[in-house]
Amino acid sequence: MKTNEYDVIVVGGGPAGLQAALTLGRMHRSVLLLDSGSYRNDPTGHLHNFVTRDGTPPAEFRALAHRELDGYATVERRSATAASVEPAGDNSLGDGFTVTLQDGSQALGRRVVLATGVRDTLPDVPGLGELFGGVAAHCPFCHGHEFAGGHVAVLGDGPHVSRIALMVLPIADRVSVLTGGATLDAPTVSQLERAGIVVRTDRVSGLSPSGDGARVAFADGPAEEVAGIFVSTVLTQSAPFAERLGLAMLPSGGIEVDVMGRTSVPGVYAAGDLAHVAALPMAFASVLTAAAAGLVAGATCVADLLAIDHPMPELSRVE
Ligand SMILES: Cc1cc2nc3c(=O)[nH]c(=O)nc-3n(C[C@H](O)[C@H](O)[C@H](O)COP(=O)(O)OP(=O)(O)OC[C@H]3O[C@@H](n4cnc5c(N)ncnc54)[C@H](O)[C@@H]3O)c2cc1C
Repeated sequence: MKTNEYDVIVVGGGPAGLQAALTLGRMHRSVLLLDSGSYRNDPTGHLHNFVTRDGTPPAEFRALAHRELDGYATVERRSATAASVEPAGDNSLGDGFTVTLQDGSQALGRRVVLATGVRDTLPDVPGLGELFGGVAAHCPFCHGHEFAGGHVAVLGDGPHVSRIALMVLPIADRVSVLTGGATLDAPTVSQLERAGIVVRTDRVSGLSPSGDGARVAFADGPAEEVAGIFVSTVLTQSAPFAERLGLAMLPSGGIEVDVMGRTSVPGVYAAGDLAHVAALPMAFASVLTAAAAGLVAGATCVADLLAIDHPMPELSRVE
């Protein structure tokens, strides 16, 4: 193979892409790992809920992964942004994909793993952006224990708001739901109130840091001091490749994959927050599950390339 041709091009260097590259490297497959340097957990100082890595700074996690990958000669890491991913048509690899980088250079991959992740759009609350990833969070599994024993608020009015409020009850000393001006239906309010959760419906006018927590200001009425506040974010694909390749998508906005990480387009795999199986309402978004999906996608690339390069007769049972 020429130097710009690879068994697999992995687009994305978060936990999904890093693990896919490790799995492929361990099988001595040639891999190009592209990383544009922008990660979903950039706003946070520590990642949680990953056994052996609970509390590790995300940058340290990636540095560890890079050190490990650098031990595998067939893995090439590049800090670069992919501009396009297209079917390669006629080339020395047969079917494959051309990945064009922002600097105009190109690489050919027999297989492509998309691991470009998603981005979060926050609710429009003044001051929230500065606190997101610390005192303000979206996921109680990632950031919840850190607010233990304090007053925890959950901002919003969708069905997930009650779920999160009830979920954090064992962790918090006090839980409030702040609807930001919306009215919850009566059964929801009575369920929350029975659990001891206060529902406040006045409009939130802003958040600001206060001690180790935050101060929530309202359009009317007194401010609240909280140890932590949960918000919901809107998720969108970080990169346009799924749409441009015509991959089947799910109502969540995620790429549809089978349990082996294959998308609807042969040769294209997806792993991490950007994809999930149709049986789930959304991706089980975490560092550990993203890495696990990367492992599966990497291993599936190995299996699928093997089936092409060394077709084996169907095994038949000898009675
Ligand atoms: C504030 C916050 C805190 C979190 N805390 C935790 C936690 O404590 N524990 C936990 O388990 N999970 C946590 N998560 C979730 C976790 O960050 C994600 O589940 C995880 O990062 C998903 O990994 P990924 O590899 O799919 O995507 P990402 O980590 O987002 O990586 C995407 C990769 O794709 C690259 N990329 C994108 N476009 C291109 C392109 N065009 N060319 C090349 N590269 C590209 C990016 O540069 C990056 O390398 C948190 C999320 C947020 C928002």
